[in-house]
Amino acid sequence: MTIYWERCSVCGYHSPVKQCTLFPDLMVDAKCCLLCPKRGVCPKPAWRFEGLVERGVVSPDERRKLLVELLERLEEKQGVPGRRPSRP
Ligand SMILES: [Zn+2]
Repeated sequence: MTIYWERCSVCGYHSPVKQCTLFPDLMVDAKCCLLCPKRGVCPKPAWRFEGLVERGVVSPDERRKLLVELLERLEEKQGVPGRRPSRP
């Protein structure tokens, strides 16, 4: 699958994105894909940590950072419902 460097359809950040499996009109970056509530029903999520590391897209260090960031975001979501990152 091809990786593009574009705007994520979910968070709007410029990141490497892939076409979403469930919603083909969306381009999602790794973080939003990994945070997606539909992952449980997604037949083939576009992003997987294993794939990211294998392809050299992220180093094991970056993978760890991503995981920490994801956990923080999840906690943030639970603690303050509806709050979204406000970076441009
Ligand atoms: Zn995103």
